[in-house]
Amino acid sequence: MSSSGFEPTIFSRIIAREIPATIVAETEHIIAFLDIAPKAPVHVVVTTKDPQYQNVVELAAGNPALLAELVAVAERIADERTNGQFRLVFNTGAAAGQTVFHVHAHVLGSQESTDSLGEDSLGAL
Ligand code: 5GP
Repeated sequence: MSSSGFEPTIFSRIIAREIPATIVAETEHIIAFLDIAPKAPVHVVVTTKDPQYQNVVELAAGNPALLAELVAVAERIADERTNGQFRLVFNTGAAAGQTVFHVHAHVLGSQESTDSLGEDSLGAL
């Protein structure tokens, strides 16, 4: 147990630079890094530096402004790295696939250019 009273998750260790990750965005309160096991051409994990919220429901209730900041960072990453169409996924609970109990969103998208609105770019996620 850490001095803050929360068992450090793997994400806390990434935030502390104890284990390496490819960090793609960072603000005072939020950090984003490439998922180690990507499920899409673009797969970025966006999480809070504060470890006290285990999932998005807790974060929304406890600090809605921080949730809004997390979503804003996710949108910026999607703007930079995807064709503008993306999924923002918050797995909530082990049965729903959550494995790290430190609130985070997955930004999932394709890297296709935004130049084309043709059929190829639709339904590509
Ligand atoms: P969850 O399953 O909790 O929604 O998402 C946890 C995500 O964290 C998974 O997609 C998993 O691949 C990713 N992950 C777990 N450990 C590490 C790690 O050490 N480094 C990075 N970059 N991603 C990790």
